[in-house]
Amino acid sequence: MNERCPVCDLKFEREEGYFLGAMYISYGLALIFIIGLAGLLCVLMHWSIQKSVISAVLLFLPAAPLIALFSRVLWVYLDQAMILHHTLELQISPLEL
Ligand SMILES: [Zn+2]
Repeated sequence: MNERCPVCDLKFEREEGYFLGAMYISYGLALIFIIGLAGLLCVLMHWSIQKSVISAVLLFLPAAPLIALFSRVLWVYLDQAMILHHTLELQISPLEL
């Protein structure tokens, strides 16, 4: 991952541990992926739940780095949206006074 955005020069990791929130997103996405895939395997292949879950985890492993990277991108977007929202709130509040 680049240190800064090549287009707008945004620094991605603004502080130590900045991407901790991305780990929560990654965890949620991994759970959705594994549960969904295990459900599909269980229904379509008529496998036991145990075999379906183990297979889904093994199939998930190659996708884990991609999901971790995607989670970081989502985290940066979420953070930027919150900053923009907060900035707009600060701009509006003096007019209301
Ligand atoms: Zn940018």
